Amino acid sequence: MESLPCQGCRGLCCGPVSITEREWKKIKKKVKSMPRLKRQELESQTRFYGTCIFYDVENDKCGIYSARPDVCQKFGYYKGLACFRKPEFATKNLPDNNERYIGTLSVDFTWKDLH
Ligand code: SF4
Ligand code: SF4
Repeated sequence: MESLPCQGCRGLCCGPVSITEREWKKIKKKVKSMPRLKRQELESQTRFYGTCIFYDVENDKCGIYSARPDVCQKFGYYKGLACFRKPEFATKNLPDNNERYIGTLSVDFTWKDLH
């Protein structure tokens, strides 16, 4: 599968995403497992308004990559989740999702909920 040209976008599409209970638990576990300094450094970065609270501005990457929500994993490759830079890559059909979204990361769930 061809990759999206994400290098250099600097978190352009990393905005608030909807998450499920299961995903939030996974994120909390991931954040807790980070070395304290790394966690503090990630939290204190200055981001544009609307950029995901876990986007690592300094290193231009997702700060919780292995625990990123499903929407982030599928983005760009599934119909309805097209990246404007390569919309032709969004060819897969989204599977039915029976899990309920509990809210939005960066809006309903923030660093304050992780202390
Ligand atoms: S998915 Fe698209 S907009 Fe997002 S970082 Fe990758 S190329 Fe850029
Ligand atoms: S969790 Fe990671 S991939 Fe998803 S929006 Fe936030 S920084 Fe981007």
